Amino acid sequence: MTTLAQAYGPERFGLSFELFPPKTDAGIENLWFHVDRLVQFQPSYITCTYGAGGATQDRTLEVVAHVRSKFELPVATHLTCVGNTADQLRAYLHRALELEVDNVVALRGDPPRGETAFQSVEGGFSYASELVQFIRDEFKNMGIAVAGYPETHQEAVSPEADLANLKRKVDAGADIIITQLFYDNVDFFAFRDKCQAAGINVPLIPGLLPVTNAAQIQRISSLCGAKLPPDFLAALSKHEDGSAGQFEVGVEFATRQTAELIAEGVPGIHFYVLNKSEATERVLSDVQLPR
Ligand code: FAD
Repeated sequence: MTTLAQAYGPERFGLSFELFPPKTDAGIENLWFHVDRLVQFQPSYITCTYGAGGATQDRTLEVVAHVRSKFELPVATHLTCVGNTADQLRAYLHRALELEVDNVVALRGDPPRGETAFQSVEGGFSYASELVQFIRDEFKNMGIAVAGYPETHQEAVSPEADLANLKRKVDAGADIIITQLFYDNVDFFAFRDKCQAAGINVPLIPGLLPVTNAAQIQRISSLCGAKLPPDFLAALSKHEDGSAGQFEVGVEFATRQTAELIAEGVPGIHFYVLNKSEATERVLSDVQLPR
């Protein structure tokens, strides 16, 4: 059993990759091709997101269980409160443990498509902190990661309230924090300072999504509220969407962002790889990981 907390330490730099469950068998085959390329960087663990639809939830466990057995890597399943009662969450976690998936990225989740506000189900949870507490109480040895927001969660009443919520999640038993994607390291460093001042002492892991397609990242950023620096957007807009030129601009930006985070002593980096390997591979080949 390797828990998330063990991935980070004075002598250890934690590298993690986040996948999502493909909808088709062809997508699954394609995923293994890219995971195969990514494992050369010896990630500390690999995670897979958990969606609102039933079919992809089964796929989440399928993906992480396969990574665990084929690549012999520690893994984490994401899990959200959306549409789940405590009984359903418990059953999912038991299934995960049967498959030797012993780490969870515990989230509240977003409202399902078409709905504007998150609604808990009867017998379910309203906030990720409640899910964390539930897992800690019933699954003592599972590793738990939670989400942190350098630019503040979009629904939070204030940055202070959002930070207080993060503290609640850590106090409830989270081992590490993985941040929402961001493109200005200044935001991350300011957030790190605030976490320290608030007494949040677990590893704070920056989450990075190397941009390879401007239209796609503008969509993702507008959904999660991440700012895109104007200079970066201007450089991307000189090339066609999805072109080799945009890829180069995105890789160069992500490489600089990664190198600066490493120089500033982050305990690890989480890459949102979007089931592809090329950009992350280029970034990781161009930086010196502290290991
Ligand atoms: P919470 O921590 O519960 O916070 C939600 C909001 O409620 C925040 O605004 C918070 O400030 C506020 N709040 C919390 N507690 C209280 C309280 N007691 N009183 C008042 N307000 C409170 N989504 C998916 O659907 N599937 C995934 O696999 C997935 N993976 C993710 C991985 C990472 C690393 C990140 C950063 C996000 C991920 N998400 C995923 C998105 C996430 O589900 C959304 O950002 C969601 O809107 C919030 O989830 P949370 O766990 O941060 O919620």
